[in-house]
Amino acid sequence: MQKDFLGSKVRGETFAYRVNNGIYLNITNRCTNDCTFCLRNNGDTAYESDTLWLKREPSADEVVNAVKSIYFEACDSFVFCGYGEPTCRLDTLIVIAKLLKARYPEIPIRLNTNGQNELINSCDSTNLLFGLIDSVSISLNSANEDEYDKICRSVFGKKAYSAMIEFGKHCIGNIPTVQFSVVEETLSNEDIEKCKVMVDKIGAKLRVRKFISENDKNPEGN
Ligand code: SF4
Repeated sequence: MQKDFLGSKVRGETFAYRVNNGIYLNITNRCTNDCTFCLRNNGDTAYESDTLWLKREPSADEVVNAVKSIYFEACDSFVFCGYGEPTCRLDTLIVIAKLLKARYPEIPIRLNTNGQNELINSCDSTNLLFGLIDSVSISLNSANEDEYDKICRSVFGKKAYSAMIEFGKHCIGNIPTVQFSVVEETLSNEDIEKCKVMVDKIGAKLRVRKFISENDKNPEGN
């Protein structure tokens, strides 16, 4: 794990921070979920970063400047993640991705998301991500909408689950790697199997990850 935090020295302006060999982009604290397990409920940092609560949302240029200020030679990925749902700022996310692709064309960009983009932005906009986002990791969290609703508590209610699945389907063909994720400790083997079958049908991958401990903080566990 990265020990030396690289990020803004200004409290509340950590727009980019380092996690191992990745640079994570923290563009909003808004989120349409209120997950019972969200690390934002228990703290305000990730991987020894400064607080990830933002006192204001950054412009695209500010995020790119933050990246430039902490960029390092071994950097192998840019990740939209942060303390919030990145697609709440889809337009800005796209501008940032364009600027980063122009400056660092060899570095892949990943989007970590709750998958509710189509409810948040009222349309399928995955075609806008073509050529910009190299991989997407969607937090599936559950094998059915009732369970998802209980643990993720979306402002969109139960329709959030099916919208997330639709989003994943629409990502296929627009984003080279499409992955859903579940936490091993929170699902039965039977439910994990159901998730695998469903994700397989879509043509995506399923990542079964371990629970993130307090010592390994990251709101999306990636
Ligand atoms: S875990 Fe992610 S999706 Fe859930 S409330 Fe936290 S930031 Fe939002």
